[in-house]
Amino acid sequence: MSENNRKGVLLVVSGFSGAGKGTVMKRLLEKYDSYALSISMTTRAPRQGEENGREYFFVDMETFEQKIKEKKVIEYARYCDNYYGTPREYVEEQLGKGKDVILEIELQGALQVKELFPDSVLLFIMPPSAAELYHRLVSRGTETEEVIRKRMRRAVEEAQDIEKYDYIVINDDLDTCVMHLHEIVESVHEEARRNRETIDRIRKELQELLKGE
Ligand code: 5GP
Repeated sequence: MSENNRKGVLLVVSGFSGAGKGTVMKRLLEKYDSYALSISMTTRAPRQGEENGREYFFVDMETFEQKIKEKKVIEYARYCDNYYGTPREYVEEQLGKGKDVILEIELQGALQVKELFPDSVLLFIMPPSAAELYHRLVSRGTETEEVIRKRMRRAVEEAQDIEKYDYIVINDDLDTCVMHLHEIVESVHEEARRNRETIDRIRKELQELLKGE
């Protein structure tokens, strides 16, 4: 089916902090132009090298709470002392254009999205091992030991709920992980229940062909 007339899939991608979600998303977007990545809003301070409007929209607590009140976020969650949320407008606009929209968000937000959009697909990116996760967090060099510990403890909590996701993808080799992710999305597009129009058309054509018999 051509991308022009297919409906966009809302993809929720989660994974432990340090699992390499950011890198996987970056490569996926470079490789395929069928995706649009939603930029979240957060109250956390920018890390070195992060830019407002590129990694996140960095806002203060008051602004964030105002956006919640005005229902300008699809979902939001508190994660390690900060708020994170998905701005509504961009997601709706891109889905309307037939793009597969990616929300790179944590578990609580993912579950809110699934409830609100039952057709969304939840993917969990896993590190090959816990030791590798710890190693990646340390070598990223952007967090203090205390924050790393906090994020590892959070990973233990998040690991309880992975079965709530539709798919898991292991991020060992980056390109393999990206390829698997893309294949999953492509097969989601082929689900019969998402292709009612095509099915109906073929049914009608069959009836037309046999008319008069
Ligand atoms: P970080 O501070 O490392 O950028 O992100 C911390 C966590 O917040 C990650 O698990 C990330 O996926 C999640 N996150 C980022 N944006 C959002 C959002 O809009 N909503 C929710 N619920 N989680 C988010």
